Amino acid sequence: LRAPPAPRLAAQLAEVGRLCYSRGWAFGTSGNFSAVVSREPLRLVITSSGVDKGLLTPAQIVEIDERGRVLAGSGKPSAEASLHIAIAQTGGAGAVLHTHSIWSTILSEDAKDGGGLAIEGYEMLKGLNGVATHEHREWLPIIENTQDWVAAAPRVAGMLREFPATHGFLIRRHGLYTWGATLSEAQRQVEILEFLLEAMGRKRGTTWQP
Ligand SMILES: [Zn+2]
Repeated sequence: LRAPPAPRLAAQLAEVGRLCYSRGWAFGTSGNFSAVVSREPLRLVITSSGVDKGLLTPAQIVEIDERGRVLAGSGKPSAEASLHIAIAQTGGAGAVLHTHSIWSTILSEDAKDGGGLAIEGYEMLKGLNGVATHEHREWLPIIENTQDWVAAAPRVAGMLREFPATHGFLIRRHGLYTWGATLSEAQRQVEILEFLLEAMGRKRGTTWQP
């Protein structure tokens, strides 16, 4: 039996996961959440695969290294762990949150792989890190879905280098990734982006065709 992972961070992560469930952004076992424990060498705590996000506990969080190997806790890391690692390495994120909300699922159909979704003119954009005006234009890149995130991680890292100012990205018909320097910053970003996606989605109404 391995030692439990960083207890305070694991407890905070479990709380953020339950919040995302309660808001309808991570129903069932969907979504996954991580936070950086140390930078050199890179260590992350991340939700185990297949756990119910509404009942998430610190015991369902494992600590992994930069290759996704489990160092502490019991369970298998999420299948998307390689994306969390890529985002922590490329964007310097301290925490990464991934939701499967209704609105991110719908709006991610806006473009094929390589396209994106523009969000502009909304006051709530000012809740994003470093954004001071509603005139900001947020570009969320959209990438194609896959079941092999280990193979896709370098492509995601390349996209993050191409769009260093972005606060998140969408996976087509799948969900949203966002991050922050800290877990509380990442939580603010997910709240803001999910709000904006819902506002845009509702505005389009039911007549919109992808
Ligand atoms: Zn996912």
